[in-house]
Amino acid sequence: MPHSPACPLCDQEPETISHLLLGCVFARQVWSAITGNWGKPQWTPTHGAKLVQWWTSLNVETRMRKEAWTVITLVAWTIWKHRNDVVFN
Ligand SMILES: [Zn+2]
Repeated sequence: MPHSPACPLCDQEPETISHLLLGCVFARQVWSAITGNWGKPQWTPTHGAKLVQWWTSLNVETRMRKEAWTVITLVAWTIWKHRNDVVFN
């Protein structure tokens, strides 16, 4: 399928999965709101964050692990759905 190589959310960077889900200015605003709500602003991904390295770098307490992994998965899926809405609709 023909498509632009640029991120459909910011149109400023190449679209990679790490950029789209973490490093994009749009995604970072979403993560900032969530990590701030958790009292973990240091978990907000950086501009150049890579998905696996970021995810495995989070020092999640055992009691919070199930909730955190669930929320992270749902947020990533929601950003992906938003990207598809922007691209296809
Ligand atoms: Zn972007």
